[in-house]
Parts: sequence; C-alpha cells; structure tokens
Amino acid sequence: MAVPLFDTSTALVPLREELHRAIEGVLESERYILGPEVIAFEQEFAAYCGAAHAVGVANGTEAITIALRALGVGPGDEVLVPSFTFWASAEAIPPTGATPVFCDIDPDTYCVTAETVKAALTPRTKAVIAVHLFGNIAPIAEIEALGVPVLEDSAQAAGSIAADGARPGALGAIATFSFFPSKNLGAFGDGGAITTGDAALAERVRTLRFHGSHDKISYEQIGYNSRLDEFQAAILRVQLPHLDGWADGRRAAGEHYVRAGLGELTGLPQPVAGCSPAWHLYVVSDPDVESLEAALTAADVGFKPYYRTPVHRQPPMAAWGAGLELPATEQAARNHLAIPMSPVFSREEAEQVVAAVRAR
Ligand SMILES: *Cc1c(COP(=O)(O)O)cnc(C)c1O
Repeated sequence: MAVPLFDTSTALVPLREELHRAIEGVLESERYILGPEVIAFEQEFAAYCGAAHAVGVANGTEAITIALRALGVGPGDEVLVPSFTFWASAEAIPPTGATPVFCDIDPDTYCVTAETVKAALTPRTKAVIAVHLFGNIAPIAEIEALGVPVLEDSAQAAGSIAADGARPGALGAIATFSFFPSKNLGAFGDGGAITTGDAALAERVRTLRFHGSHDKISYEQIGYNSRLDEFQAAILRVQLPHLDGWADGRRAAGEHYVRAGLGELTGLPQPVAGCSPAWHLYVVSDPDVESLEAALTAADVGFKPYYRTPVHRQPPMAAWGAGLELPATEQAARNHLAIPMSPVFSREEAEQVVAAVRAR
C-alpha cells in the first residue's frame, strides 16, 4: 500500500523502551487489578481532560452503559443518540433497560446539533449521547441548554480542543472514552474511561464498575465487572504525555490536505464552529463516492467507508429504528469515505492522495 489508511505504530517507536519498562513494572508489582497504575492514570487523565474525576473501565462500550446507569437511566426512559456513529454508541443503551431514540446530524460536521436533538426530544428523554464523531466536537453547551444531561461519547476525540480551550471529557454531565488500540490514545488491548465533574456521579460509576459494590462483600446494586487493568493503565501513562503532540500531528495532516487542494476536488470535513479537532478519522463527503474509491484503489491509497448502513437500519435496532427518516444521516452514510490520517502523516503523502483524487 503506497499510502495506508492509518499508521498506529510509527509514533510509538521512540517509546518502546519506556513501554517495556512499564510492562515489566506491572509484572514485578504483581498487582494486576485496580492497583497503583490505574489510580495514577485516573488522576492524570482527569487532569488532562480538565475533569474532576476519571474512572477506568474495561472498554468504551461498557463505559457508555455504566455512565447512563450512573445518570439514573433505566427502563421506561429514552436516550437520544445519533444514528451516524459507531454501532456501540447505541448498542450500549438497551442493556440499561432504556430505549434508544435516533436523531439526525449536521451533514457538514457529522455531529448532532441542538436542532437535531430538539427534534427528537420527548418528555421521556432522560439523557442525550452526543458523539464527538471523527474527532470533531459536538456543541454540548447548546444541547444541555435544552434541559437534558449530555453524555459525551468521546471515543474518537481524545486530543481535540473545544472553542473555549476546554477538552472533551469536561464539557457535559459525563463523558466516555475508548482506548481501543486504533483510537487517538490507544492501549495494547481493550480499555476505557468515564470522566465527570460531579463527585456523586463518579462515586456511582466506581461502584457500578465493581459489581455494584465497594468491597465485594455487600452489594448495593446490580453492576458490572468492568475495569481498566494495570498493564493497560501503565501503557496509557507512558503515552498520555504524547497525546497533544500526536493530536497536533493529526491537525497538521488535515492542513496538508487543505494546502494540497483537496477541497477543490471533494467535500472536506468541517470543524464544529471554533473547535480544533484531532482528526481520529479524516472523512470526506463526495456525491460520487464510487469514482473516488476507484481512483484511490488505482493509486494504492487506503480508504474505508465506516458507516454505510446507519445504526438505526441495522437489524438488531429494528424495534426502534424501522421507518425512521433521517435525511442528513442517509446522505452522510452514502457519501462519506475515510482517507489516510495519522499523527505522522506527511505533506508528501497528502500530495500523493490529492494527486490520486485529481486523476479521477
Ligand atoms: C470505539 C468507539 C466506541 C466503543 O469503544 P470500545 O472500546 O471499542 O468498546 C464507542 N463509540 C464510538 C464513537 C467509538 O468510536
């Protein structure tokens, strides 16, 4: 492949020694679950996000379910979620007993807006999941002004910066992250976190991830066994100080595409007003996406359509999604294409990709 879709290894090469030492350290400590590495990572990640509390969990999907439970979501409630997102954003809702209600997006930013959320609100709406899709940042304050708590699904937005300099994880009532290896901050296995500024919410999250207990002797509620483990926490602690540099690399990659003239050839992803996305995926929009795919294939450039079938039309969501009309979601599903992006993506690579698109 002349230009790969992403590169998750080059940025880690200079950290190899330090990563080995971190892994050795956990082996020697013989502490594997909820030990000093997780405690330290939780403090460091909370400080990074500008949130008072961070709680490590097993993955970004359970993070959403647990965060919703902590917000009090349960049977009879509705939770709003966009349909143009990774499946897990919505998959995490039914395990709480609540009903997913799908809302539309802004086709330019791929994110929900106060308008698309408002159109789907009902008296039973207990929470809104706003997905910071592809690293963009959904307008959380405008949505919370509608009077419902917002869960930021920040799985794709570690390293992004909002209009006022704040970070995902500190914008809504509660936020969730995934440290799946390909995310902007990736573990060497599964991992996730929940952040919040609310001490009572954080305490409920801590109990829920630990079987609904404080001590595994008495149990307050039905919870989960959902913990970030010591190895992953140690690995994430090595990487966290580099996240901003990698995010700058992703922003620079986006700039390379703009300067090479990609915007004259296809629809570029638009940042939500004022924010500075650390593009997790660089997703263009094209009314003739087949010819774009053909041109990239011919030039040996990586690409991927991530969400051709929106979540509400996937068979397991039929009970909640059948017959729903979400025009911007359908357009994005049809026209989107992720093209190469990584923290180390170069100007030369951008020019190669743009030349391939120009040649179609
Ligand atoms: C990756 C992702 C998740 C799920 O995270 P996992 O750690 O894979 O469970 C949830 N939402 C979005 C938007 C994601 O991209």
